[in-house]
Order: sequence, then C-alpha cells, then structure tokens
Amino acid sequence: MFVVRHFLPARMIRILKSIADCRKFSTKGCGFVPTMGALHRGHTSLIKESAKSNPITVVSIFVNPTQFGPNEDLSKYPRQLAQDLELAEEAGAVAAFVPDASTIYSDEVATIRVEQVTRYFEGERRPGHFEGVATVVSKLFNIIEPSTAYFGLKDLQQCAVIDAMVSALFMPIQLEFRPTVREEDGLALSSRNVYLTHEQRSIAPQLYQELLYSKELVLQGKALDAARERLASNGWEIDYLELIDRKTFSKSNKIDKSSAIVAAAKLGSVRLIDNIINILD
Ligand code: AMP
Repeated sequence: MFVVRHFLPARMIRILKSIADCRKFSTKGCGFVPTMGALHRGHTSLIKESAKSNPITVVSIFVNPTQFGPNEDLSKYPRQLAQDLELAEEAGAVAAFVPDASTIYSDEVATIRVEQVTRYFEGERRPGHFEGVATVVSKLFNIIEPSTAYFGLKDLQQCAVIDAMVSALFMPIQLEFRPTVREEDGLALSSRNVYLTHEQRSIAPQLYQELLYSKELVLQGKALDAARERLASNGWEIDYLELIDRKTFSKSNKIDKSSAIVAAAKLGSVRLIDNIINILD
C-alpha cells in the first residue's frame, strides 16, 4: 500500500499584525502596495512592479471602514485572506501588513482632507470617501515608511488625491501610478466585479468601449452625448462620463497632456468606474 502525502508548501510571506511587527521587520525603505484585499491581477501587477525595483516589497491588506459610506458595501466586501497571502507572495511581496481596525484607528480622530481634487466626481458622490482614503494611506505610510508606493490608475481620482496629499504634506515618498489591468474583453479588473450577474458581466465591457468611443468623439471636437446615449440604451444608469483635467480633477473643454475621460455608471446595484488617460496618444 502506498500512502500519498500532500505536502503544502510552507508559506514564506511574513504576516505583520502590529505597528511593532512592522518596526521589528524593518519595513522602512520598502516598496509598498496598499490594498483592501480580494487580490486580482490588478493588485498583483502593482506588487510585481514593486518587486522589480525594490529588494523588499510590502503589501497591506486592510478593508478600511472610513472610506465606505453608510449605504456602501463594507460588510459584504469580499474577504479571502489565505488566497490573498498566496497571491501576494507569488507576485513577490515578502511581507503583508494585516492590521485590525483597532490598530489603525484609536479613540482620537485625526483626518486628512485634500480639497481641490476631491471637489467633483467620486468626491462629490461619495462624501467622506477620500478623507477615509487619504487618512488611511497617510497612517499606513507612517507605519510602513516606504520609499516608493504603488497605486493603480484604475482609481484615477484616488491617484490625484494621494499625489496632492504627498506633495502638500511634503511626504518623502515616491509615487508610482500604474496602468489599469483589464480582462480580455476590456473590463477593468475590480474586486466588485464579483457582484455582477452573468448577464451584467456580459454588458460590463461596454463601459470601456464607450470610453474609447468618447476619446474619438473628443478628438473630433464633439460632445460625449452619443456615448452617454449608447450606454443608457443598453441599461446603464450613468453617473458621469466627462472629459476632465487630471491636475484639478474638474471638467475641461481643452485637450492636452493632462486630459482624461472618467466614467461611473451602474448596472443594477453594481457601480463601476473606469477612465482613459493619454487622450492625445
Ligand atoms: P483596492 O484593493 O481596491 O483598494 O485597490 C488597491 C490598489 O490596486 C489601488 O491602488 C487600486 O487602484 C489598484 N487596482 C485596483 N484595480 C486595478 C486594476 N484593474 N488595474 C490596476 N490597478 C488596480
């Protein structure tokens, strides 16, 4: 009789729970990728990018309660820590900071608010969201003390917020904003895509298609109404689809290096955001 034994590979990635753990491990000077977990290829592309340029890459996995509005999906946000650790390690992270909310938030509340680039779009629709993001990222920066931090351009306004915060507060951290990773059909990867029904999933790539169409319209000097109408006629509830200036994150009519087209729209109860940059390329 043969006894077949399955040996699970020992996990090498270090799990850091507390601020003291981070200091002891000495995360200072690392490449850092903050996430809320439910890792997909968008996240792992950031980790891989960091691992290419930094001897130590640290990922954080923390579903930050303060960036969720009262009617948002905090309680049902996907959580899959074991799989996340495996994916993070495979992509090249050497440590994962996985704090409890009580480690990040104590009784005293101190909040970072970035004014200009949060005025419209996600900032307007999701009151408090970017305060939550800026605050948690600044806390994570102070705990991890990275030399470089990596963010995805999928969340374009978030990139503008972090960029503005780091320069306004003179934080000694280099920022890398990396391209959006997409499914083959163009849908931007997002942890929220799991909420789409089979039928909604088949419609979802239209958001990116209409962004590409919007780029053509903009380059022809035309309004974006035609793209909005096509989305609406396919069952999308459009929140916004606009040409903006990335520097101020406000609507714009002129096309230059900082132009982008941003979109948010709902399929049923699932709200998707996407954007295209480099309109002139
Ligand atoms: P989250 O876990 O949603 O907070 O995302 C963590 C980081 O991954 C953020 O910097 C996101 O912008 C980035 N990210 C999320 N989705 C993608 C994607 N499809 N492509 C590239 N980066 C992404």
